[in-house]
Amino acid sequence: MPFERTLVIMKPSIIKRGIESELFLWYRQTGLNIADVRIIHPNIRWWKDFYREHRKKSFFPKLIKFMTSGISLALVMEGENAVQAIRTLNGATDPKEAAEKTIRATFASDGKLPDNAVHGSANVKDAKRELDLIRQHRSYTHVR
Ligand code: GDP
Repeated sequence: MPFERTLVIMKPSIIKRGIESELFLWYRQTGLNIADVRIIHPNIRWWKDFYREHRKKSFFPKLIKFMTSGISLALVMEGENAVQAIRTLNGATDPKEAAEKTIRATFASDGKLPDNAVHGSANVKDAKRELDLIRQHRSYTHVR
């Protein structure tokens, strides 16, 4: 099986609910290595670029509004077959359709799209592009 890197994002709702540590346990149980963790709070322009394949979709404005609503956590995961392993663990895009014991079924079951708790890169090519975007993003935190 190929060694791969993929990007996981714990979306703002997970951080607001304070349950990120629970998700870390799930991701650790994959046996993949968590190579990097970053707090990110990108602006509208960055998220529009990140999700540009969806820019013509009717849900795009809601998606961007949700993703800019707070901080997210970006995890760089690496190991054998990492992309598919994470996609399987995350579950289907719509939490109502996600299989039992997936992250989306467990942690976003009451949520309505676009809130499905987490992101996982769709394939190796997308993962490379998304990881480049994360590397270029300059994280900052608000001190209120
Ligand atoms: P993913 O690869 O499973 O994240 O799914 P996609 O790449 O198709 O969609 C990107 C993100 O857009 C999803 O994770 C959701 O947050 C959001 N999204 C996808 N489909 C819909 C939809 O039909 N309605 C709404 N409101 N949001 C959606």
